Amino acid sequence: MSEVLIMPAEEKTLTYKQTEKIAYENNKLHKRLCRLVGQAIGDFNMIEDGDKVMVCLSGGKDSYGLLDILLTLRERAPINFDIIAVNLDQKQPNFPAHVLPEYLTKLGVPFHIENQDTYSIVKRVIPEGKTTCSLCSRLRRGILYRVADELGATKIALGHHRDDILETFFLNMFFGGKLKGMPAKLQSDDGKHIVIRPLAYVKEVDMERYAEVKGFPIIPCDLCGSQENLQRKQIKAMLRDWEKKTPGRVENVFAALSTVAPSHLMDRKLFDFVGLQATGVASVDGDIAFDEEPCSTGSSNIISFQSLD
Ligand code: SF4
Repeated sequence: MSEVLIMPAEEKTLTYKQTEKIAYENNKLHKRLCRLVGQAIGDFNMIEDGDKVMVCLSGGKDSYGLLDILLTLRERAPINFDIIAVNLDQKQPNFPAHVLPEYLTKLGVPFHIENQDTYSIVKRVIPEGKTTCSLCSRLRRGILYRVADELGATKIALGHHRDDILETFFLNMFFGGKLKGMPAKLQSDDGKHIVIRPLAYVKEVDMERYAEVKGFPIIPCDLCGSQENLQRKQIKAMLRDWEKKTPGRVENVFAALSTVAPSHLMDRKLFDFVGLQATGVASVDGDIAFDEEPCSTGSSNIISFQSLD
């Protein structure tokens, strides 16, 4: 699965030159995805020699893409690790149960389908019209942890990408009063597993395009009848608007998640403000609160506070 030349279906009707250009762009996309996923894996030490990675496959574009890229990277990796794809069939009405087994069998990837009717539980417990996602996700999480145990998986890989991380960050800030995102690597709630998000550096638009050119057999995600969370929708729209009107802003926010200065925030659990004493030693990257232009650090990429509307 080394150099993959991805051709979209519509390519047949194009001229030779157009076809070549599309193939070139698709190849570039594939390379970019592999590079970004490899980088995230390396930065966070997500996968180690001898790991058994359980890739959670929902049937959506992101998890298909994640599995596909991990399979490519495994071929090139200097370490050995196993991959097992897992799908939880939640018994939603009209769920096409044959799609994933057929796809995975054709791909030659070991897989496990876990059948658990969480759909009925959620419908029974949550009153009509109320959001079902929170209970549904909790149930799903518990089941996936148990399955990881049973399969002897050492890592659980999820298909969240950069935009999911940013949306969660703003959701927590705007509606939860917390500076908290979605980590690229974390310990599971039960303390027994390491959950990884190898797509952490990847933009959603790239995953959309990749799914299109690879022709993944996408399973619609609205089978449960639940509406997309309204607050998440608002955040998504806000980010798309920023991306359009202020190129670079979203990139900067994402970069900021990896460049935290606890001494310049206000969380007393992260920094000992109470015990802070002058050391007599000057700080190069010190407080610029009194500067006229708070963000004029010389980089044209940095947005000044005034331009944040
Ligand atoms: S959209 Fe449906 S399946 Fe997905 S988490 Fe919400 S309730 Fe569960």
